[in-house]
Amino acid sequence: MTWKQNGIKHDSKHNKLRLSKGFNLKQHRSDFILVEYETRPDVIVENIQQVRAVWNDDRWELHLVCKVEISVEDAPGDNTAGIDPGIKNYLATAYDNGDAELYPGNVLNQDKHYFTRDEYDTEGENGPSRRALRARQKLSRRKNHFLHALAKHIVERCIDHDVGRIAIGDLSKIREDENGESRNWGKRGNKKLHGWEFDRFTTLLEYKAEEHGILVDRKSERDTSKTCSCCGRKRDANRVERGLYVCESCGVTMNADVNGAVNIRRKITQNPPSGDMSNGRLARPVAYLFNQTSGRFAPSEQVGCEP
Ligand SMILES: [Zn+2]
Repeated sequence: MTWKQNGIKHDSKHNKLRLSKGFNLKQHRSDFILVEYETRPDVIVENIQQVRAVWNDDRWELHLVCKVEISVEDAPGDNTAGIDPGIKNYLATAYDNGDAELYPGNVLNQDKHYFTRDEYDTEGENGPSRRALRARQKLSRRKNHFLHALAKHIVERCIDHDVGRIAIGDLSKIREDENGESRNWGKRGNKKLHGWEFDRFTTLLEYKAEEHGILVDRKSERDTSKTCSCCGRKRDANRVERGLYVCESCGVTMNADVNGAVNIRRKITQNPPSGDMSNGRLARPVAYLFNQTSGRFAPSEQVGCEP
């Protein structure tokens, strides 16, 4: 369902929208839906072009499409970055110089646990209570905030690394096999679960990267977890133990998610990492943790790969 400009009245002072339901001939008046919205402090709602009602997982959302003029900057440089949706982590990044970063999603899991219990506790005979609905909304807002903050942070890291182009694993391309059947990911099931969400994250990243002249390429993840990013050897079954990728050919040990990110990056460049691969950086990458209070990501102590 979509409302065009003539069906939308925007009261920007009070953060309200009046959406027309069309003209009711019987009662000689037009019906409308009154909507109140909230935004993050850095978002200004103006020049609304369209309002769309979108079914999102288990509820309806209204998406406001605004026209914004953006001055596009020149790309920070010619370097590349690779981003892989992680098996153990929310995602991993890899840069030309061998730098690699991990972004755990633990904050989301904690939230989910807490809010699901909260919801459960308040479930009434007639379905979820008002309190349960509020908990659900809060969870969704916090997840949204996490995704926005992560996209912004990664663009900042890319600017620091003079990146002009980002390759990102496209989960939508691997969720079905050749016969169109859903793949059984087994232990890697979390990839399938966050596929939809990762798609949304990629869209946010594209939008934020574009402002800085950085291109984002969605690349198939095919074989990226099976291939050794150091010597290029591909195996039938990837040997991942406690989050580490161990190559029997060249003997390298890497964080498995970082190995994937390096392989994704190699899809858009011929250049191998310029840094020293043997110093263990790829086995013990920097992990950035999300701080709910500050809303920012900060590097934690160097972490190992074990949980
Ligand atoms: Zn190898």
